[in-house]
Amino acid sequence: MTADSRKFQRLRESMVKNQIEARGITDPDVLRAMRTVPRHLFVSEALMDQAYADHPLPIGEQQTISQPYIVAHMTQALALGPDDRVLEIGTGSGYQAAVLAQIVFRVYTIETIRSLHMRARKLFDDLKYSNIVTHYGDGTNGWKDESPFDAIMVTAGAPDIPIPLVNQLAEGGRMVLPVGGRLAQDMIKLYRDVDGIHQSSLGGCRFVKLVGEHGWEQ
Ligand code: SAH
Repeated sequence: MTADSRKFQRLRESMVKNQIEARGITDPDVLRAMRTVPRHLFVSEALMDQAYADHPLPIGEQQTISQPYIVAHMTQALALGPDDRVLEIGTGSGYQAAVLAQIVFRVYTIETIRSLHMRARKLFDDLKYSNIVTHYGDGTNGWKDESPFDAIMVTAGAPDIPIPLVNQLAEGGRMVLPVGGRLAQDMIKLYRDVDGIHQSSLGGCRFVKLVGEHGWEQ
């Protein structure tokens, strides 16, 4: 292992300890995933030294990679298991998909900005994350051919809950997404069972806009 990767490993360990565990994330799979994925490779070289800091970072195209704690919190909220198939809307840097891919059977992720889609795809290939399937397009319509999903995560803020996504949730399926205004949203969790859809709030948050047919206008 190079000195550089030892440095990042130390930063990663302290991120998990001081930002994730200290704030009450306990799911062992989530903690393991966050200890494993090399977050610094998902940002530009100029920002690598900040990759494990307690805040979001720009990834180009006016988009951001979420704060580590938010990634852990949303992932834990999905209560994932090893056989799950998960849909993510908003690939961005690819970091959240990589974290999910450590825990579940397969991750399907959709990105609407072509350059981000291409960069994430290449990184997944380089890192040999072979259980991530990527798609370039509008994720607000979901991915009908691969549905239903055991879990769905939207990593951009929606004005309303996109109905196609709810329809692509399996029975027993869970979904988390930020819903609200352009500047601030509420993190919503949905759960589908035989009786229908159950909804709860996980608190306030701030995400970039979900744009598309069932999102904000471009
Ligand atoms: N999960 C990402 C965070 C990305 S920020 C990560 O770990 O880095 C949100 C992303 O959602 C942006 O890249 C944005 O382009 C994308 N996005 C916005 N609307 C979308 C849509 N309708 N379909 C797919 N991606 C969308």
